[in-house]
Amino acid sequence: MLKRFIAYYKPHELIFTLDMIASFLVALIGMGYPIITRLMLNDFIPNQKWNLIVIGGVSLFVVYLIRLGLRYFIQYYGHVMGVRMQAQMRSDMFVKLEKLPYSFYDNNETGKIMSRMTNDLFDISELAHHGPENIFIAGFTIIGAFIYLALINWVLALICFAMVPILFGITFYFRKRMRAAFVASRVAIAKVNASLESSISGIRVTKAYNNSDIEQEKFEETNQEFVNARKSAFSAMASFFASSQFVTDVFNVLVLIAGGLFLYGGQISFGDYSTFIVSINLFIAPVNQLINFMEQFQNGASGFKRFLEIMDEAEEIDNGTIEIDNVKGDIEFKNVLFSYDKSKGILKDVSFKIDSGKTIALVGPTGGGKSTICHLIPRFYNIDDGEILLDDINISNIKLQSLREQIGIVQQDVFLFGGSIRDNILYGRKDASEEEIIEACKNANIFDFVQTLEKGLDTEVGERGVRLSGGQKQRISIARLFLKNPKILILDEATSALDNTTEMLIQNALDKLAKGRTTIVVAHRLTTIKNADEILVVTGGEILEKGSHEELMKLDGAYRKLYDLQFRNINDEDSEIINKQIAMNS
Ligand code: ATP
Ligand code: MG
Repeated sequence: MLKRFIAYYKPHELIFTLDMIASFLVALIGMGYPIITRLMLNDFIPNQKWNLIVIGGVSLFVVYLIRLGLRYFIQYYGHVMGVRMQAQMRSDMFVKLEKLPYSFYDNNETGKIMSRMTNDLFDISELAHHGPENIFIAGFTIIGAFIYLALINWVLALICFAMVPILFGITFYFRKRMRAAFVASRVAIAKVNASLESSISGIRVTKAYNNSDIEQEKFEETNQEFVNARKSAFSAMASFFASSQFVTDVFNVLVLIAGGLFLYGGQISFGDYSTFIVSINLFIAPVNQLINFMEQFQNGASGFKRFLEIMDEAEEIDNGTIEIDNVKGDIEFKNVLFSYDKSKGILKDVSFKIDSGKTIALVGPTGGGKSTICHLIPRFYNIDDGEILLDDINISNIKLQSLREQIGIVQQDVFLFGGSIRDNILYGRKDASEEEIIEACKNANIFDFVQTLEKGLDTEVGERGVRLSGGQKQRISIARLFLKNPKILILDEATSALDNTTEMLIQNALDKLAKGRTTIVVAHRLTTIKNADEILVVTGGEILEKGSHEELMKLDGAYRKLYDLQFRNINDEDSEIINKQIAMNS
């Protein structure tokens, strides 16, 4: 883990080295004050070396000026280095995310992945640049101060040094308590917000039931919880500041008394005594730095661990070698077994064949496995056993990209990217010309609608396409497929009902699209079923029946039942329109 972390420093070796040198110099300059103080009191002042007094003062001033520059350097370039490392990790992670299979996204929520990309990586970058700096400055200052003071008087230096672990322990304890209390108060605030949101969005119900009193009571309760949580957070904060200040005070007193006794006993000079007193800060500042480091380390290391978890996820397997182009479009499933997770088999021995250019419809009860069958053809998931053949080539031997180029998919719920209608259609083929886009829109029966828009194709669709209706989104996704022009078409029809006109527009666009392509359609509409060359009834991961509508009706089995339940209760008026539509298209 450490090795992989260090690898991210590699491109920034120079800045990192300079940063460390600067930190070293800052620590070194920190020791200047006690050194000069001692020289002044022991030598320059008693011996009236006026010029040295001036030189001492001026040199301190000069090194402080240098420290000003060094601190700027550390702050600025340190953070810049951290943010660059963060950007590098972020883009590594993004590349990785694009390579992960469907199953990864089935098992990880978007919010969680996002928080890894933002919060976790932020923590890592904080550790990346503050960590070495803090350790370096703190370690050097404590050790440097100890050596210097030990040279003056080692017993007194040891007494001071012995205080450091105590100082560290106490500060650490209160700091930890403070952190825990603030985490708890954040949880309480989240609860207050949630309760508030629920009350405000439910205010119409509250009014209708005359329940303002209850709501107010509920609110007061959470509001009081908020006050309590903040109170204990502030109490922890107050203890932290007061006690760490107190420990510092005690430290001061101790050095004052112990040093005083040493001076009284004649073991040290007045100048040395003063040096010890002004050196106290050399022990206290690093203690805080070390505690900062420990916190950063905890957050950063666990963030990095979570980052590596994603980086080590298994990528989509692509050991296919065959490039395919201009496929005919024959598809065959041979005894396919499939499960999303090994404990529960989903497809049990599915076999069927579609000849190039034909349309098959998959029908069946919800959860039967229709969408699953669709997802296996572009190899969104790998099968457990059996074979799926495209033009008699096993698809697991075909390069993924090459395979997916031949396949167009309209998913059960259409996804549009934020951006314009044009951007979304161009997703089908990036280099399409304006004429081709318009042609695609016309074919998808969306052009008339686009023309009514003030900005036409450049109209923004909103996040996930919220500014468009379901039917409009579907037609845009169809236009996208006209541009892609794949040999194989997979349509997972939306289950939501559309009004007759929209349904007709979409049906007509899909019919045009399906022409000359091998088409698999998950059918929820009667028109689609009747247009198909063959119907497969998928139930419980098996193909129960297959044949044409008439054949299956005659069979009087599962299809017949399904038909009676699901499709026949379309009212007469609708079926009249649909029949007309079919006649128009054929
Ligand atoms: P519908 O008509 O409702 O769309 P469907 O026939 O398309 O249903 P599938 O989506 O293929 O049904 O689901 C088949 C089975 O697989 C269901 O039992 C479902 O719970 C399960 N399933 C679907 N997707 C996943 C997934 N990503 N991870 C685990 N199980 C899944
Ligand atoms: Mg489905």
